This record gives sequence, C-alpha cells and structure tokens, in this order.
Amino acid sequence: MFLVFLGPPGCGKGTQAQYLQNESGFTVISSGNLIRAEIEAQTEFGKQIEESYKTGKLMPGDAVLELVQKVVATEGAKSILFDGFPRTVSQATAFDSYLRSIHREIDAVISFSIEDSIIVDRILGRITCADCKHVFHVRSNPPIVEGVCDNCGGTKLERRADDTEESIRQRLDEYHQKTEPLKEFYKSKGIMVEIDANQAIEMVRQQMQQEIDAISGKSNKEKSIGTYSRC
Ligand SMILES: [Zn+2]
Repeated sequence: MFLVFLGPPGCGKGTQAQYLQNESGFTVISSGNLIRAEIEAQTEFGKQIEESYKTGKLMPGDAVLELVQKVVATEGAKSILFDGFPRTVSQATAFDSYLRSIHREIDAVISFSIEDSIIVDRILGRITCADCKHVFHVRSNPPIVEGVCDNCGGTKLERRADDTEESIRQRLDEYHQKTEPLKEFYKSKGIMVEIDANQAIEMVRQQMQQEIDAISGKSNKEKSIGTYSRC
C-alpha cells in the first residue's frame, strides 16, 4: 500500500507516521529526513541545497522528487508512507506519472485537519530534551519534574530556535498557499480521507487505524474480484 500523509507542520502526522512504522511495518519516506541525510553525507545534491535548507527556503521541487523516486525504486513492493510529500500540486502530478510508469499508484491520502491556533499553541509550548530528543509540552504533556527529562533524566530541555510565532505563521502560510490545494487534487481522485487532528493523539491514532483497515479491506476485495473476473 502506498499512503500519503497530508497536513500542516505541527498537526501530529510525524508521530502517527512513527506509529505506523513500528506497528504496521510501513517504510516512512519523509522528504525532510531525506534532505537532511543528503546534507549530512555531503553528497553533490546535499551541498547544492544546504544553503536554501538552512535559510528555510523551499527546496527545488524536481530535486526532491528525484530523491523520493530513488528511494521508491529501492524499496520496491513494500508498503510506503509518504510523510510530507508531495508538497505542491505540480509535484504530485509529476509523482503520479512516475508511479504510473512503474505500475503503482497512491492507494490513499490521509489529510490531518487542524486549526492554526491549535498548531501555534502546540509548537510554542513544545520543549525537546537535548540528549534523547524526547518531546514534551509545557502544559499538555509536561515532564513529571520540571526541567528534568522523564525519559533519560537529562536536564537540557529546550525550545527549538525556529519555534517562534512568526516562523510558525510563515510555515503555515506557505502550507495554506502551496500544499493545501493538494486536498482538492486528491479529493477529486476519490482517494482522500480527512481526520480531525484537533483531537488527542490517541483518538487521532484510532481513527487513522480504522481508515487504513477500511482501505486495505477494500483493496483486498477489489483484488479478489479482479481474480474472479479473470477466471
Ligand atoms: Zn531525555
């Protein structure tokens, strides 16, 4: 199954992707992680994009597409979850033609809907342990002892430098302008389901699992009908 997660930064889709990777054996392809890996390895491409990545500019779309395609080609028939990719309608169109060329398609798109004000609150309250990267929230999920990480006992609980209200609003604006039109794009193909991501993580997870079960049930049924018709 090829699955796409669509949603603004801070909607919680990364957490849900992690869950599917651990519990359902999905390979998660996150364009952000791919880009960071290229930069760390200082590949030709990594060197080219390092500057625009650091200054927060949008990556050149074709280059990201190429990176993703390379991973899809190596992963082959596995179940893949695309987290935060595609980002624009033109990227999605190009990706669709690539998938057609290898006789695959996106089976479903899960869109995480959430209000901007909730995202701003979530991100501004987020603190991360510098040692183990565990994430807390000052109000909704604080560490048991203030200033001490529950997970590893570390005492460097920090806000990310780019988690300012201004930069969050900027990222949200970019999402609404460039990425949100993908909702209509996938809706018109009849493969999109929407989940209310204003809810608690556990509720979102349950709803997501139900949707995925329904989708994989449907595609199995379609496959068996296909078999019958060939008989
Ligand atoms: Zn820690």
